[in-house]
Amino acid sequence: MKFLLKLPLHLQIVLSIISGVVFALIFINAGGNPEFSQNWIKPFGDIFIKLLKMIAIPLVLASLIVGVAKLGDLSKLSKLGGKTIAIYLVTTILATSIGLILVNIIQPGKKMDEKTRQSIVQKNIDSSSLKKKMSGAAVVEKSGPLQPLVDMVPSNIFKAMGDGAMLQVVFFAIIIGIATLSVGAELSGPLIGFMNSLNELIMKIIEYIMAIAPIGVFCLISSLLIDVAGDDPAGAVKILKTLGWYSVTVLLGLLLMAFVIYPSLMKIFSNVGFMEFFKGIRPAQLLAFSTSSSSATLPVTIERVEKHLGVNEDVSSFVLPLGATVNMDGTSLYQSVAAVFIMQCFGVDLDLGAQIMIVVTATLASIGSAGVPGAGMVMLIIVLQAVQPAGMSESEFSVIVAGGIALIMAPDRFLDMCRTAVNVTGDCAVCVSVAGKTGRTKVSSLED
Ligand code: ASP
Repeated sequence: MKFLLKLPLHLQIVLSIISGVVFALIFINAGGNPEFSQNWIKPFGDIFIKLLKMIAIPLVLASLIVGVAKLGDLSKLSKLGGKTIAIYLVTTILATSIGLILVNIIQPGKKMDEKTRQSIVQKNIDSSSLKKKMSGAAVVEKSGPLQPLVDMVPSNIFKAMGDGAMLQVVFFAIIIGIATLSVGAELSGPLIGFMNSLNELIMKIIEYIMAIAPIGVFCLISSLLIDVAGDDPAGAVKILKTLGWYSVTVLLGLLLMAFVIYPSLMKIFSNVGFMEFFKGIRPAQLLAFSTSSSSATLPVTIERVEKHLGVNEDVSSFVLPLGATVNMDGTSLYQSVAAVFIMQCFGVDLDLGAQIMIVVTATLASIGSAGVPGAGMVMLIIVLQAVQPAGMSESEFSVIVAGGIALIMAPDRFLDMCRTAVNVTGDCAVCVSVAGKTGRTKVSSLED
């Protein structure tokens, strides 16, 4: 046991993921009752995620107020904001385009035969989880084009905090930060001192929570697998295999983002090396993979980027919370691949105009996706709605949309884990890039 605790954090988490998988396989093969896992394993995973979420809002509030106050003047804030949003947009458009190029070259949809497609759609089309997703998308779709802007402004900051509405909290914290800049040090000093102290305490709490991360991750992974396999593990594996080409296309795109695009970005804008970067953020990536939630991972992302990559707090406290909600490169890439894949499966050819439409809608849809498990798939429905071919009736097309989502549901949780890891990696890479060559302090050790 002692030996395990001495291992670096990322190795502890990797071991937890592996043992979670092995345990689940043994459990499933031994005919274990899934209810046992629901009652006795999953709750510990839930507690772990709740602990992370518990500190996310106070952390963002405290670190962002201190961060803006530290910037010292408004022009610096607008410069930082402009640079951040510009780089976030560029990486998301790149991700969507890479997804589109790959799906057009590999053409996974053309590799699936008609019979298999029909049987998978048939299997899922009446499932409650599909219905939930479709109704979630319908709610989003009803709102007007400026709704995201309206949603950013809280009418009650306590409710916003209670609901975990990250962008609203970011908005509020920035306003408070700006106000501290104009009232002078005498008035703002006590608040900034308080927030500073809260911030440091939360950093300590993150260390405590990460100490139990191996247990949390083990419980999350094993209960998830037991749940997914359900009563028919062999059937689950077969469907995964059928959707193999589609999954490979998404994974290839995600790898390109992580190992080509982000390192190139950092090479241009910063002096952080490839190895140093990955070493610094490894635990955050693994946590994103295990939880499928960039919001839940946010506290750890902030801690890693500040304490292990040395990015100054005024940059990280602004760039990372914003990124966890609006910058989802993995999600936008997945959405563009999935949209074209579904159309290929249903024999709908998308012309250049429709593909450009996918770049636009997938970029917007990923910005609108919440950093929680499965959010990207709900927003995918909106991307699909945007490419309805001329001449096809509404009802005919809605059959394709529902059938398409039913088709790709099986591997979605796994792909969600991978795209969330890329979402978080992207936030960190952009944060390091925005900090640039001067926005870092030296860190004494890059070890876990
Ligand atoms: N789970 C992803 C995230 O939290 C969002 C998605 O479903 O793509 O980043």
